[in-house]
Amino acid sequence: MKQLLDGFGRVHTNLRISVTDVCNLRCIYCMPEDMVFIPDTSLMTYDEIIHFTRIFIGLGVNKLRITGGEPLVRPGVPHLIKQLGQFDELNDISLTTNGIGLITQAEALYEAGLRRINVSLDTLNEEKFEQMTRRKVLSRVLKGLKTAHECGFNPIKVNAVAMRGFTDDEIVDLATFARENNYQLRFIEFMPLDADDIWGRNMFIPGKEIIDRINNVYPLEQMHLNGDAISDTAQRYRFADNGNEVGVIPSVSEPFCDNCNRIRLTADGKFRTCLFSITEIDLLTPLRQGADDVVIENLIIDAVAKKEAGHKINAADFVKPERNMSRIGG
Ligand code: SF4
Repeated sequence: MKQLLDGFGRVHTNLRISVTDVCNLRCIYCMPEDMVFIPDTSLMTYDEIIHFTRIFIGLGVNKLRITGGEPLVRPGVPHLIKQLGQFDELNDISLTTNGIGLITQAEALYEAGLRRINVSLDTLNEEKFEQMTRRKVLSRVLKGLKTAHECGFNPIKVNAVAMRGFTDDEIVDLATFARENNYQLRFIEFMPLDADDIWGRNMFIPGKEIIDRINNVYPLEQMHLNGDAISDTAQRYRFADNGNEVGVIPSVSEPFCDNCNRIRLTADGKFRTCLFSITEIDLLTPLRQGADDVVIENLIIDAVAKKEAGHKINAADFVKPERNMSRIGG
């Protein structure tokens, strides 16, 4: 089996595929209100996504996450999941969603073979939710979560971006919410990938502080990871009393790039070796021009060989990618 090895000895087995940049929310840390979306004709078709997946599997990919924008606003994702499920080499398929589409699609996704999902939810407060997402739909996100739970998804991870002076007073509330509903909570440090340039060091809360705040109320035990889990982005803990998991993704304060195994394909078929890449490789145009798989493979292998060491958020020469989060897919 071929491997996607970079210049730092990291092997890349975890592919994130964005199926659309469209979303039914406008989260302030992700996209502007007046977002201009990628034209449909420039989006990968599901057949092209399956084609690329086959190529990446041949290069050693065995884990796949479907992202957006909001993937469930694009029709047909359950069918795509079913098709992806036919690749025996993929030992893990997951999906990141804002939860709204789960109300109507959780059952179909579960029947298609999906077993675990990540749902973004940063606040339980209606007003703050509207400020954060510029939409009044908190109740539908909560209903989507509940529907997924009833369908049997496990684990259901709730991803929350903690912002100082905005949602940090809800850190323990979200932990309580996750405990009461048996969700796995993940706090993601606020990263400079927002469209409106609101990111600042005064707004992000280090993962350690988040864990300390939770630990003061709900004693935690740190989980010690090994094997593939070492590449996990999250620092994982268990509540000492019920064993449920909670975690933080400290991308800014404690970067985990040394163990990175992630690569990305954008909805318009651009290959990105890092979330913060400032360059990307167009795979879709050559595919549509009839390039054979070997040509595509070589484009991927070359790009990974030149992969950056990691993000430079903490460096003086940090350059923010042109694409905002909804165009990359997280
Ligand atoms: S910032 Fe880039 S290199 Fe670092 S963990 Fe994320 S994707 Fe990997």
